[in-house]
Amino acid sequence: MINPETNPAHQVVILGGGLTGIATALHLRRPWVLFEREQILGGLAVTREREGYRFDRTGHWLHLRDPGMKKLVAETLPDQMVEVERKARIFSHGATTLYPFQSNLYGLPAEVVKECLLGVIEAKLQSPGAAEPKNFEEYCLRHFGAGISKHFMIPYNERLWGVSPSEITAAWCSRFVPLPNLEQVVAGAVGANAGSMGYNASFMYPKQGGIQTFAAALASRLEPTRVHTSASLDELDFQRREVVVGGERTPYSAVVSTLPLPELLRRMPGLPKDIEEHASRLRCTTLRYLDLATRSRPKADWHWVYVPESRYPFYRVGIYSNAVPSMAPPGGGSFYVELADRGPVREAAVRESAQGLAEMGAIASPDDVLFADAREIQYAYVVFDDHYYAATSAIFAFLESHAIYSRGRYGAWTYNAMEDALIAGREVAATIEAKSAGAIKP
Ligand SMILES: Cc1cc2nc3c(=O)[nH]c(=O)nc-3n(C[C@H](O)[C@H](O)[C@H](O)COP(=O)(O)OP(=O)(O)OC[C@H]3O[C@@H](n4cnc5c(N)ncnc54)[C@H](O)[C@@H]3O)c2cc1C
Repeated sequence: MINPETNPAHQVVILGGGLTGIATALHLRRPWVLFEREQILGGLAVTREREGYRFDRTGHWLHLRDPGMKKLVAETLPDQMVEVERKARIFSHGATTLYPFQSNLYGLPAEVVKECLLGVIEAKLQSPGAAEPKNFEEYCLRHFGAGISKHFMIPYNERLWGVSPSEITAAWCSRFVPLPNLEQVVAGAVGANAGSMGYNASFMYPKQGGIQTFAAALASRLEPTRVHTSASLDELDFQRREVVVGGERTPYSAVVSTLPLPELLRRMPGLPKDIEEHASRLRCTTLRYLDLATRSRPKADWHWVYVPESRYPFYRVGIYSNAVPSMAPPGGGSFYVELADRGPVREAAVRESAQGLAEMGAIASPDDVLFADAREIQYAYVVFDDHYYAATSAIFAFLESHAIYSRGRYGAWTYNAMEDALIAGREVAATIEAKSAGAIKP
């Protein structure tokens, strides 16, 4: 009988050392080996430091729902995490209002409030038998009415996703877009709303070092000899069940890939034609943003703000140091500025952003900006268009028939948060353990 502990062909190969890859390794009992392209683990959960200012890859606030994940976080960084009550705002029509827009109209100009309220009432009066919304734009009109859709939902989401909401299916949004009832909308319009709504009313964050402190602490629990950094996947030979990294072949019994799905498929020669065709239909938008530092303390007290109006170059801005002061030197501020323009960052974007922040009352003046570095996330937002479900279900069925589990935000080609990445790692490890236990028995 072959001992699975000593036969390398029975090891699990993990591709990518972001939170999904780390969590997979943490939960696997079978032998595993992990290959990560970058020099450090963490994926999107890493932090950059410049002149004492710290920046994540835009806001990476840890929202926890799952009891197992709460326990994991507490064990990983005992006494080193803080719980922060969210201060999320909307900036619209010159006013700063509470998030979410749909249940906090109070503070907007009276005409806008009236238009939004009438729209919600009209939407609520629609016959219950009306056809299901076909896309996200229709979903907004159906659930929020014309006014809220026009003033926030449609322009904001177009700026966030980088494509028109009419190109996006409605399916992704039920968890992430809070749906208030009429009473909550009316209460929010007159300033009488009690409590926060939405999936992220509070969040956890490391006291020091940015989100990377958390990823690094998790990674430190892995057996280091099995972790290979600066090790990029060249090829996945699914017919021979081997991965090729730096010219070396490694056999596997199963692969957990957390690479962006198109990147994985591109490295798999010999794919069937229909899978190649499905792969060519996968769409994702790139995000450009600024790591921005201010000399003095920000004027605004919020943690992040949503900006639907196109006259501002950014659609969302966050202030790390307002959530956790150690993210900037004493008296300074560290910001992320997420740009609506999906092309390369224009030279004017920094100046326009500084002016916009001053106009919104977030900083004292544009001159207060010490530096602003342009950054990019190539794979940022997967587009849930009409091809999405057919393409992903065919691709995943094919991959799993070859013991390749594509998981995580870009492996599963989805929209999710860090907790989901950790859960995905735990779940895929359990799936593999269960399958292997059946397959390897003598
Ligand atoms: C703009 C933005 C804001 C976000 N804000 C939040 C937030 O506030 N809160 C929250 O909970 N979540 C947030 N998220 C989501 C969060 O970042 C993800 O859910 C999570 O980090 C995904 O982890 P992952 O391991 O699946 O993917 P990744 O972190 O992308 O990890 C994939 C890994 O694969 C590696 N890799 C790529 N190519 C290769 C190759 N060829 N060979 C080997 N390795 C390779 C990469 O280097 C990377 O380390 C945000 C995401 C974005 C884009």
